[in-house]
Amino acid sequence: MGDGLSQATTAWIAAAVLLAGVGLALAWRRRAATPATAAAPARSADAQRDPHTGLMTRAAFEVALQHGLATAEKTGSDSCVLYVGLEGFRIAQDGAGAGAGEQLLAAAAQRLISVCGASTPICRVAGEEFAVWLNAPREAGEKLARHLCESFVQPIDLAGRDVWLGPSVGLALVPEQGSNLRVVGKAAAAMYSVQRSGGGGHALFDPRIEAEQSEEATIARELQQAILKKQLELFYQPKIDTATLQVSAVEALLRWRHPTLGLVSPARFIPIAERQGLIEAIGAWVLEHAIKQAAAWRAAGLRMRVAVNVSGFQFRQDDFAAKLGRLLKTHGVPADGLSCEITETVAAENTEATRRAFMTLEQLGVHVCIDDFSASAPAMAALRQLHLHELKIERSAIAACVRDNQARKLFESAVKAAHSHKLRVVASGVETVAQRDLAVHLGCDELQGYLFAKPMSARAVMIWAADAPAALAQTLRPTAFKDTQPLDALPTQVAFQQTRISMQR
Ligand code: C2E
Ligand code: CA
Repeated sequence: MGDGLSQATTAWIAAAVLLAGVGLALAWRRRAATPATAAAPARSADAQRDPHTGLMTRAAFEVALQHGLATAEKTGSDSCVLYVGLEGFRIAQDGAGAGAGEQLLAAAAQRLISVCGASTPICRVAGEEFAVWLNAPREAGEKLARHLCESFVQPIDLAGRDVWLGPSVGLALVPEQGSNLRVVGKAAAAMYSVQRSGGGGHALFDPRIEAEQSEEATIARELQQAILKKQLELFYQPKIDTATLQVSAVEALLRWRHPTLGLVSPARFIPIAERQGLIEAIGAWVLEHAIKQAAAWRAAGLRMRVAVNVSGFQFRQDDFAAKLGRLLKTHGVPADGLSCEITETVAAENTEATRRAFMTLEQLGVHVCIDDFSASAPAMAALRQLHLHELKIERSAIAACVRDNQARKLFESAVKAAHSHKLRVVASGVETVAQRDLAVHLGCDELQGYLFAKPMSARAVMIWAADAPAALAQTLRPTAFKDTQPLDALPTQVAFQQTRISMQR
């Protein structure tokens, strides 16, 4: 029941739902037509239940559902199928010992039974996904979906540890959305749409969901080919050191040059790659090309650090640091010439796997940056134990500071706390002069944003490097720094003017 398996199962079911158009539902129909169905009435009640979870077996559920659907059709009554996905199994099991997965599954199943009622047919479809047949109309179905979500607010006790699972529920109505086993696939499609938008709620099936999912399946298929077809590219966006006025680093940002869609944003395809199990190959491609590029720039005399975005899935792999170490060695790039940007959400997981990953990166000597840092006190506390170098404050926090005093105070105390832990602070998404001045005033060590430079190709970085001193001198005028540095660190006007904003050489 590990993450890989759960992802694979999810991907399989999703693919079944999407690609065949009828997907999961067809699989269900096939199963329902097997001799198991005919034999089912003869089975004992025990044989119809999974001994580990107490839930109905899938075969018994299918029989109950088919029977229920047939009766509902005859009587003209309304009913619904709920499809429940529980996220967080892998993280919960991490470091919890053998058998933890089965225990957690049994406890989760008991919670489903206690909310739905012992006589409601429920079965485990695959991995951490369950189907529920409710012989009641839409209002009751939605009420049950809400109760199911609320019931998982309470943690599950796993060998003395509190474990939280994230529920998402999809709902399909009978007869509106069909009176056959396809409704299970439709409820599943609705559940996946909830998970895609962050989970923790319920949604009713809508035909647009199927269209969205088939679009995702198409993108996933094409993305699989993108590496082979050499359609991936890295763009780079500079970060500027406010003290030295040098470009301290460039962040590698992935682009997909799609033959018909043009340049596709990673915000569009990275989440799909993560859901469809493609992120490992894509992440490996990014690392290799960014490190190769870092080596090429070093050879050309540009010594700035290259930062890469590392997805949670990559980061949790046991051999991530070892692979990184091998690549750095192969291309002759020193470990501190590379920065790994890891999102606050992944860093705050605080599981055995993430702690191990931070430790191995520290041993390797690469620079570690927490990306999309929210600057909140709990986030700061969660990161205190980790060995880090840099916090990158999210774009919205910088923008909020300009408008809102409260946000500014929060930001200021986060910068102070970061500095007290010897962490550098980067303000990202700086778009306006007001944001720039405020970020510098609040003590940010580095700035990044469209105000200075947009992401650009590796070739453009070389050209930009040549023009950077003049361009940045225009952008970072001395007045921007006037009130921002401690007085003893404030360069004199003359010295400041002599300071060249330049790529590190
Ligand atoms: P991110 O790591 O937070 O990257 C910053 C995003 O903000 C980039 O979008 C960048 O182009 C954009 N940006 C930078 N400055 C400004 C600004 O001043 N204003 C505005 N409005 N936007 C600004 P991009 O390149 O579309 O990347 C989006 C996200 O995709 C990244 O967010 C990152 O989470 C992810 N991503 C990009 N490349 C990779 C990659 O190689 N691997 C992984 N796992 N994720 C990646
Ligand atoms: Ca980033």
